[in-house]
Amino acid sequence: MKGWSLKDTKGFKGAESRGPTADLVIAIDGPSGVGKTTVAKLVAERLGLRAVSTGALYRAVALHFLRRGLNPEDLDEVREGLGNLEIWQEYTDGHIRTFLNGEDVTEELDTVEVSDMASRVAAIKEVREFLLDVQRRLAEGGAVVEGRDIGTVVLPDADVKFFLDATTGERAKRRYEQLRAEGEDISYEDALRDVKERDIRDSAREVAPLKRAADAIYIDTTHMTVEEVVNRILKILKEVVP
Ligand code: C5P
Repeated sequence: MKGWSLKDTKGFKGAESRGPTADLVIAIDGPSGVGKTTVAKLVAERLGLRAVSTGALYRAVALHFLRRGLNPEDLDEVREGLGNLEIWQEYTDGHIRTFLNGEDVTEELDTVEVSDMASRVAAIKEVREFLLDVQRRLAEGGAVVEGRDIGTVVLPDADVKFFLDATTGERAKRRYEQLRAEGEDISYEDALRDVKERDIRDSAREVAPLKRAADAIYIDTTHMTVEEVVNRILKILKEVVP
């Protein structure tokens, strides 16, 4: 275990904060299970910015579809699902909370069932368009925004873009450890299958596939701890942000 659990890293002391960062928009993209949310929260905390998890927004839409029994392959049902739907996120005291029509659904988003539905709804153009506006509003005034297409589609003008990567096996391990720590009854094989299936869907889809922005800074985190990744990002920000 290399510390890829937020619980273990809360309050760690690493690189110095880089001072005033108001309005800075930082994009962090990468594949499933790489640890983007953990890293985004810690970087945001250190810089006094809001952290935005766009994966949680897709998960909230997925939960809505699951609750309503809507079929993401049926466009009429997709439109019905998106009508009158309100998705929002708050960031307070280092915690990201996601709201579905005003209800805090944060605790319900991290299951294999929701993950699976999230990558299915994420392939639908109408869902991506719906969340585009939500994501841009959340980034207003400065934020650390993590996802799959932040640097390429959602915030192409972000001040600094990062692309975090790790091998499939390492990402499955991190996902497995995270879910076990949260009390989910999951095997390593399930975590591996989940990561592999979502990789295929996220990379193969026609709309906004997972792709590294040409101007994104690539970090292979396979052999790095959370602290090392966060410190690398803070160090780079010190160098590149005037
Ligand atoms: O990051 P997380 O695993 O929570 O994301 C859930 C799903 O939402 C992913 O599998 C991906 O298909 C989708 N997603 C996306 N674009 C984003 C963020 C997440 O397509 N910006």
